[in-house]
Amino acid sequence: MSYFPDDMPRPEPTMDEAGFWEFCKDRSLRFQACTSCGTLRHPPLPMCPHCQSCGIDWKEAPPDAEVYSYTVVRHASHPAVTPRLPYVVAVVEFPALPGVRLITNITDIDPGAVRIGLPVKLWWDDIGEGMHVPRFRA
Ligand SMILES: [Zn+2]
Repeated sequence: MSYFPDDMPRPEPTMDEAGFWEFCKDRSLRFQACTSCGTLRHPPLPMCPHCQSCGIDWKEAPPDAEVYSYTVVRHASHPAVTPRLPYVVAVVEFPALPGVRLITNITDIDPGAVRIGLPVKLWWDDIGEGMHVPRFRA
């Protein structure tokens, strides 16, 4: 059973995001790294914003992250999320991969206990049809 109800809209990757979501299918969280200058970036882009190289490598993220920022959602923006309220939408960053941040959910926690800097660990939410979404818990 996935974190959100089955009628939650599924990710619809753009052409630039397709590689990211292909790795997610295999429960591998990877971020683009420029093959010329090494700069990490997310969301995925066809070209390095730092040096304009089109060379792309994919660096695997460790499971350990920290909450950079967050909000507690208390009003449904889509009918599918109503049973899950309140829930936490967060931006997490990876001490081992400076420069990339990911928008995700912090789960299995009282929303009032979430704070900036909270250490969190990756888990994979199986949303069916071979798709997995990276989420985090304390
Ligand atoms: Zn570059």
